[in-house]
Amino acid sequence: MSPGIEQSIKNQVKPRNYKINASLVSRIIPVVLFLHDNTQSDPVVKANNNPIVVFWFRRDLRLEDNKGLYQALKSGRKVLPLFIFDESVIDPLPGNDHRVSFIYQSLASMDESLQNNGGGLLIKRGKPLEVIRELLSDYPVEAVYCNMDHEPYGRKRDYEVAGLLNDHGIRFHTFWDHLLLHPEKVLKQDGTPYQVFTPYSNRWKQILQSGDLEYHASEKLLKHIMPEQSMPGPEQSSLFPDLTELGFTWSSLKTPSPKINKDLIRAYDRLRDFPAAEGTSKLGVHLRFGTLGIRNLAKIAAELNEVFLGELIWREFYAMILWYYPAVVDQAFKPAYDRIEWRNNEKEFLAWKEGNTGYPMVDAGMRQLNQTGYMHNRLRMVTASFLTKHLLIDWRWGEAYFAEKLFDYELSSNNGGWQWCAGSGCDAAPYFRIFNPYSQQKKFDPQDEFVKKWVPEADSEDYVREIVAHKKARERCLQVYKRALEATSNKNGQ
Ligand code: FAD
Repeated sequence: MSPGIEQSIKNQVKPRNYKINASLVSRIIPVVLFLHDNTQSDPVVKANNNPIVVFWFRRDLRLEDNKGLYQALKSGRKVLPLFIFDESVIDPLPGNDHRVSFIYQSLASMDESLQNNGGGLLIKRGKPLEVIRELLSDYPVEAVYCNMDHEPYGRKRDYEVAGLLNDHGIRFHTFWDHLLLHPEKVLKQDGTPYQVFTPYSNRWKQILQSGDLEYHASEKLLKHIMPEQSMPGPEQSSLFPDLTELGFTWSSLKTPSPKINKDLIRAYDRLRDFPAAEGTSKLGVHLRFGTLGIRNLAKIAAELNEVFLGELIWREFYAMILWYYPAVVDQAFKPAYDRIEWRNNEKEFLAWKEGNTGYPMVDAGMRQLNQTGYMHNRLRMVTASFLTKHLLIDWRWGEAYFAEKLFDYELSSNNGGWQWCAGSGCDAAPYFRIFNPYSQQKKFDPQDEFVKKWVPEADSEDYVREIVAHKKARERCLQVYKRALEATSNKNGQ
């Protein structure tokens, strides 16, 4: 750590006691949620064939501690592991999309382990409903297992698949694995969802049981995987297609390691705000695609650093918001904010995207994003605030750009983060709190280490001029936001 950062921490971060509430990890209530569990009905099994079950991987690309996979492997039937490259998700992506490369690599690594156990992963490209329908005619499927999705698209997809399976008398077992607590478990006393983070987080900690953190040793049961040779003929040659067969090429961007660094987590509360310090975990991409399970990470967080645990709870909070308020996908959580008259200047948007705004802290963040697929949280806040408040560009534009670029892109957290910065979200930064990019730089990059790395020309004459003056932009923002909010309160008062 540089002396500048150390000094800055001493100046700004008061020592706090981050002891964990022991009751968090002492209670046991196993939680298994079924979206559609008709375990009482008789399975329809094809004649002359041994029935099998399918495990459908989605945002849980790991063989270890995978709740749904564990249950499938314990079902007493051979398990056919399946992954579907969903055309409606991947078709709009560029040919060298870095997330697709990452997914492919993760699948290849699982396939290798499955092959060592005599099986293999079946990869399909298509529309999930059609792929599953086809699967039912190829295999004697008794049940389908998977882990649940919290996004509107995933929920709708699963609802349709549940309907299809139900029509065939096939059971659909779904489990809660991607997050720790199901949104329906963390509610206010009156049964309604929270809209403010702190009381949500307090309740979350109160009701978390050690059973929610329980390890499910799916990796120990891989002998129950369906042997590769029992997969029907035409499938065998195309079980695992090349990336190019799927319509993609390799991305050159590298993903951070999924290894949990305990020292980093211990120091997290002191270093997390300083982008030059490498003080955050960079585990976002692994949590997003499930190459790392949340339960073990949360357990470690609960033991080592409550601030880090708090960030994992933010992840759950935004997922809960999306679960109950799916309209936030394209609407402001607070409707008044949809009255803001965004300027939406295309040229300024381009300058922001390319990291050429003339504000070193903003440009450093955007260049880090463009070149690595990652951006530090402090910079996400600074760049998002700059776009929405200094440039008055609709948060949806920025959100879409982050969605295109981030390795760890997660709809609920990205939407929550953007609406927080724009002021339009639940429990958001108040609209009159406008980050000054220079003060942010002084406070969080005191030696300009981060800025110099990404904007080496920042101090030279070659650097672009500021596209907007901070003071003027601030005043303009206050006026525009005020006008939108007053218009709403006048309307409501009429
Ligand atoms: P760490 O600081 O090490 O935190 C550990 C984990 O906690 C993260 O990996 C993430 O899963 C979770 N987490 C941390 N902070 C938050 C937060 N504020 N909200 C929700 N979860 C959090 N996070 C995403 O995972 N995907 C996104 O698409 C995303 N977009 C964002 C957009 C904006 C405008 C903002 C302000 C924040 C966004 N975040 C997003 C939240 C946060 O910036 C990232 O999770 C974090 O920077 C990822 O880096 P890390 O893995 O090193 O996180």
